[in-house]
Amino acid sequence: MRSYTGIQFLKEFEYSDIGLCVVDPGNDQIDYCNPAFEHILNKSGRDLIGKNYVDLLGPQWEISQTLFTEMLFNSSVLKRNVTAPSSTMESHEQILEVGYIAVHSDHEQSRWLIISVVQKANSDPHREGIKSGTGANAVLELAKSNILLSELNTILKESQENLESAFEAGNLGQCGINFSTGEVTLSKKGRNFFGLAQDIQVTWELLLEAVNEEFHEMVNSAFSDALTLGKPVDSTYSITHLSSKETRWLRVMAKVHFNAQGEPLKLFGLVMDITEQKNDEQRKNDFIAMVSHELKTPITSAQGYTQLIQRKAEESGNVFLGSLADKAFTQLGRMSKLINGFLNLSRLESGKIGIHRERFDFKALINEVVEDARATIPTHTVQVDKCTNIDVCADRDKIQQVLNNLISNAVKYSTVGTNILISCERMGSFLKTQVRDQGIGIDSETISLVFDRFYRVESTPTEHISGFGIGLYICKEIIDRHQGKIWAESTLGIGTVFSFTLPIA
Ligand code: ADP
Repeated sequence: MRSYTGIQFLKEFEYSDIGLCVVDPGNDQIDYCNPAFEHILNKSGRDLIGKNYVDLLGPQWEISQTLFTEMLFNSSVLKRNVTAPSSTMESHEQILEVGYIAVHSDHEQSRWLIISVVQKANSDPHREGIKSGTGANAVLELAKSNILLSELNTILKESQENLESAFEAGNLGQCGINFSTGEVTLSKKGRNFFGLAQDIQVTWELLLEAVNEEFHEMVNSAFSDALTLGKPVDSTYSITHLSSKETRWLRVMAKVHFNAQGEPLKLFGLVMDITEQKNDEQRKNDFIAMVSHELKTPITSAQGYTQLIQRKAEESGNVFLGSLADKAFTQLGRMSKLINGFLNLSRLESGKIGIHRERFDFKALINEVVEDARATIPTHTVQVDKCTNIDVCADRDKIQQVLNNLISNAVKYSTVGTNILISCERMGSFLKTQVRDQGIGIDSETISLVFDRFYRVESTPTEHISGFGIGLYICKEIIDRHQGKIWAESTLGIGTVFSFTLPIA
């Protein structure tokens, strides 16, 4: 059991003239008493603390275990009149009014018996300002709340310490902004991540100064979305460490808390240093880029030789050889597509893919893509549902790549003979394009993950369909860089609709 002796919370009873003591009902020992208690009983603290209260004060004072439990159950205050113990050096017999209250703390599973004591008015004619029984009740109730509050504080402190240890173990920093005071806080670890001294006053401007220029817009817009729309922040950006000047990668996850009127109160977030992870990714990307690049040349040569064999087989009338060459050419084409996907991915991640905007008629692009698809996809019907002539200002080649990707997925994930419908329509200042298939569909639990890098839905219908899970990731990156949005809606067994928006020129 925890000892309450000398604990700050009971200090306010030091000046009360109602005697108060706290007993541990487990061993009946007095754990705390105030000066008024010592005075009324004419004993010093040394004589009281740690002593068995019944032995010391007499059997009249005793609260049995059964009575204690009953008092706990009823939350009642018990009152008794007792004669003062014999050591009280008074000329006449002194009657004391004693009050008891039982306390049980759910949090600590601890129990306490609080005893109040006042001299009965008629028992001490020389003493004035004697408290009434009502005052004693209030003191008992107050002491009870104090004990419970103090235990809660201890628990709060412990959980704060646990949280801090968990942050420490997870190598996580904490950050916060108080919007009413403008104060920005950053834990020790967080300061180390940014290269800030522990004693320096942190400001938003100071943190932004460390963030590399190309991420300023992203950081500011994530912050303003969190503030105005309540969106959780999850941003990854590079910084220049303020003391070592080296480049580091940080991921910040945060949330703004609002009051009942919807006004922002504070932001609380976590900061992680993900430099190692980023470096690993970089090494992986470099490797993929190198392998893809090296494979490109032999595949192009193999495609050339296969075409030559196709032509020779045609000239010599060797149908069997011709069909083998056709098949080899198709397989090489698939391989080449996959390699191009990897090359695009690594170019995209190393920032080498730029967006070259131009104004063009979107309907003309759709017609071109559909014509190509019809020529190369004999297994499905590709149709334009509706599309108006609208000019957009975008990277035509990249948007074509997005459309081709969505159409080839629609083909891959639906059965032969089904329909693929493409449509586009104006939505305010955006143009919305949709690619709809009648395929296997995607379940609602995984649909939000299909745009993640290397993510592939694992299911029976998809296990024999080849792919690396990068097509949709590239589509999303391209659309994001055009300040558009891309999403999917699907019903298992019925089909999927991929939609994306682009700002109208
Ligand atoms: P890949 O097709 O190479 O695996 P993608 O990034 O293009 O990679 O797609 C990711 C995953 O999303 C696919 O593995 C597939 O499970 C799912 N998916 C994509 N398009 C469709 C679609 N039209 N219908 C059903 N599932 C799809």
